[in-house]
Amino acid sequence: MDGLPPLREIIRRHGLAARKSLGQNFLFDLNLAARIARAAEPLSGTTIYEVGPGPGGLTRALLTLGASRVLAVERDERAIAALEEIAERYPHRLEIVAADALTFDPRPRLDRTCARIVANLPYNVATALLVRWLSIEPWPPWYDRAILMFQREVAERIVAAPGSKSYGRLSVLTQWRCECSILFDVSASAFVPPPKIKSSLVRLVPRAKPASCDRKLLETVTRAAFGHRRKMLRQSLRSLGTDVSNLLAAAEISPTDRAEDIPVAGFVALARALALCRDNGHDTEA
Ligand code: SAM
Repeated sequence: MDGLPPLREIIRRHGLAARKSLGQNFLFDLNLAARIARAAEPLSGTTIYEVGPGPGGLTRALLTLGASRVLAVERDERAIAALEEIAERYPHRLEIVAADALTFDPRPRLDRTCARIVANLPYNVATALLVRWLSIEPWPPWYDRAILMFQREVAERIVAAPGSKSYGRLSVLTQWRCECSILFDVSASAFVPPPKIKSSLVRLVPRAKPASCDRKLLETVTRAAFGHRRKMLRQSLRSLGTDVSNLLAAAEISPTDRAEDIPVAGFVALARALALCRDNGHDTEA
């Protein structure tokens, strides 16, 4: 595809045996890597922020298919030499950063071109990374789209609708700020070593104007409500330390409803009502 050695050879030469502690499940199938990269098209004129390039299968697909620039952040020092071979093959188009994506801030390295996140995420930190990208202030964020591989179970939580068993805090936070969909599933056998379960590629498109509310209060109400998802809200919201009847009335939500049945707009209304209660000093003792 690009004149570079096959991934198995790169892994052998650089002693890149997969480490579980780093969530390493590598993609060897370059056709599948290309399918993921195509989900992020158009690539020309775009800077791709890739988390966890590892031996570089997806990175190579992104560059071959025309990404103007890839900024790749990798925590495993062993992978850096392997990635430098790719950088030589694509002069000035691949920037490699040896860092932890949970703390690394890509913004200073992104120019004013459009930026997009593409990653086959390390599953042990995938949710934490997603929450970080959803918590960027001010909103809309620096990326115009994110194409991310998650374990199927996490992907289902992200896109879940009210009333389903996967619906929870992650669904509310993600759907509040982004339009999201599952693009396709990938079987465990596509990875080396294979994880225990299927994976899914998810697309997130940040909403230009999510319904206005304080993100931290939205997190507060969803944490309280889903902390006891089968209880009625009049009970589960008591930990908020405010008059729950007033709060629910202000949000126009029935006290006998349960968290799992409340749509995103209902949680936004609750966060706004909580802001008002707190501004008006209606808090009871927490
Ligand atoms: N992109 C490669 C592929 O598709 O074959 C590797 C994907 S593998 C599932 C996850 C990668 O993320 C590994 O290379 C791992 O070393 C890296 N990684 C794990 N934790 C990380 C972190 N906190 N920051 C940056 N990279 C990390």
